[in-house]
Amino acid sequence: MTYPTGRPPATEADAVRQVVIACRTIARFGHEDLTLGHASVRGPDGRTVYVKRKGKSLRDVDPGDVIGIPLDDPHGHLTPGAHLETTMHLETYLARPDVGAVIHTHPEYSIALGATAGGLELLSHDGLLFPDGVAVFDGTAGLVTTPRDGQAVARALGAGRAVLLRNHGILVAGEDISWAVLTALTLERAARIQFIARTLGDPVPIPREVARELSASKYQQEFAEEYWQDWCHMLDTSR
Ligand SMILES: [Zn+2]
Repeated sequence: MTYPTGRPPATEADAVRQVVIACRTIARFGHEDLTLGHASVRGPDGRTVYVKRKGKSLRDVDPGDVIGIPLDDPHGHLTPGAHLETTMHLETYLARPDVGAVIHTHPEYSIALGATAGGLELLSHDGLLFPDGVAVFDGTAGLVTTPRDGQAVARALGAGRAVLLRNHGILVAGEDISWAVLTALTLERAARIQFIARTLGDPVPIPREVARELSASKYQQEFAEEYWQDWCHMLDTSR
């Protein structure tokens, strides 16, 4: 069976469906936190962002829980029904034309990692997705609700895939929703493995130079769509 693609959406309905699938998928892998956390997708017009609304847990998101916000609206983050931290999504899209999907969540192991000084170590193949490490945003430990703070998060993200929001959560950006979900899941798994490894002994990381070489073969372009199809299958067969 073929499911909807995780590539850049061709229609508005595709974008909404991708947000639903992304939210429900990350909920299964440690990203659930009350009704908090959100995924978004840049629409086919390039100027509209489709993002989960507040008041619904990730696992229960339906198409009616996704709202469209124009990127050229300076008050877009104040759209009725939008999460308080929607500005992070909007500012990331504005800063990064290459980004097609954004996720912000509060996964436990990544939060714990972001609350330490050491940062992510390259201890597993998961770490290979971040061979140059993961940036940290420490501008505020509070909610990111203003465009100014949203821009600061986007600056901390830079050209990277992910940023740890110190004492708060994560923000990841992907060229499409399949890459954003893969990045969110992989970052949390890498943080969890680091926690486990440190309880067992002194970690022995993959050398950074080796990690850079291995990264491209482990995370090939077409793999993300393959994983996306499998997440769709998981959701479809486990309702
Ligand atoms: Zn948050």
